[in-house]
Amino acid sequence: MHKNTQKIYLDYSASAPLRPEAFEAMLKILSLENAALNASSIHSYGQEGRKIIEQAREKVAAFMGCDCNQITFTSGATESNNAVIRHFLEKFPDDMILISNTEHPSILEFRKTYQTQVIPACVEDNGLMLPQTIDDICHDYGNISLVSVMLCNNESGILQDIPALAEVAHKHGALFHCDATQVSGCLPIEDLNADFVTISSHKLGGPQGAGALVTKICGQEPVALIGGGQEKGLRAGTENIAAIAGFGAACKASAEDAGRNETLRQWRDEMERRLKEISPDIIIHGENVKRCATTSFFSMPSLKAQNMLMALDVEGICISNGSACSSGTVKPSAVLKSMGYSDDIAASALRVSMGWATEKTDIDTFLEVWEKLVKRQSKKQE
Ligand code: PMP
Repeated sequence: MHKNTQKIYLDYSASAPLRPEAFEAMLKILSLENAALNASSIHSYGQEGRKIIEQAREKVAAFMGCDCNQITFTSGATESNNAVIRHFLEKFPDDMILISNTEHPSILEFRKTYQTQVIPACVEDNGLMLPQTIDDICHDYGNISLVSVMLCNNESGILQDIPALAEVAHKHGALFHCDATQVSGCLPIEDLNADFVTISSHKLGGPQGAGALVTKICGQEPVALIGGGQEKGLRAGTENIAAIAGFGAACKASAEDAGRNETLRQWRDEMERRLKEISPDIIIHGENVKRCATTSFFSMPSLKAQNMLMALDVEGICISNGSACSSGTVKPSAVLKSMGYSDDIAASALRVSMGWATEKTDIDTFLEVWEKLVKRQSKKQE
């Protein structure tokens, strides 16, 4: 497969490049001549399509440490998250849903329409959600049907103690949803103690437009789309077989190279040590709490994120300012604002995120260019 050697890509939290295994799996299907695989058709092409979907389901289930019948394929994490929240809003209209205030917009945005039903719980200044906070809110309201807290924050990489949070939700009779999009597969679903888990293909090196909702107990699955009987009637619509096959292949490949995360963590930590030497006023977010190995999120109040992003891009380096979900806009990080940071710090936040194809030289080159740009910037300000 062609690798773009001109650019250094350090924005895996937005989308990971397609893994060769996923590309191969999809290519096989996309290059079939004179054959349309619709998994609902009875003829042999249809059966072939069904077989591909079920083989992919086995790979996703193995990756998540669950059974095949717990997986509903969706178009991605946004759809999975939407399905869970809508299900609880509709099924329990008199009850509340408790979400953390650093959730992805595919959950947080429900607050705009359902202000009285969707209650935000605030993380601490270090980005962590305390079980006590969930406990207090559940106790005060008394009718919380669902608690939803993400495993790994998409901007900061901060990891929440999901089993402890789920335990508190269960104590109050609520079910628990976890958006594990940014680090799915790091724990078997049993260990997460969550009733619903969201995952997405393109964060793992699979194609965009595929994902899954994993439900712990059969019979409790939310309906994502109404229509035909696909996905046991839980997600209607003709399946995107090539994308599902690519998703399955990406899960298998991710499980096989999970050990590489330790190397990436070392590179990330070394990179942060160098960044501090270059810019002593840098703030590394989440430095003192549990974080995912592949992400570094930092602010330098003296720099504007947009200027740095553009200057880095000119040098062929792709990083990001926190979330990529705001139509290409550079806004102060909402996650940092929720953690109590000032506008200056939230507006100067940048995220470097690594993954399966990252090489040490990518980090070294980024640091060289970063040092050059910071020096240039300080000269301008003198
Ligand atoms: N949740 C989180 C934590 C994410 O990072 C993202 C993607 N940025 C989503 C949900 C939405 O994922 P998708 O693109 O698969 O809809």
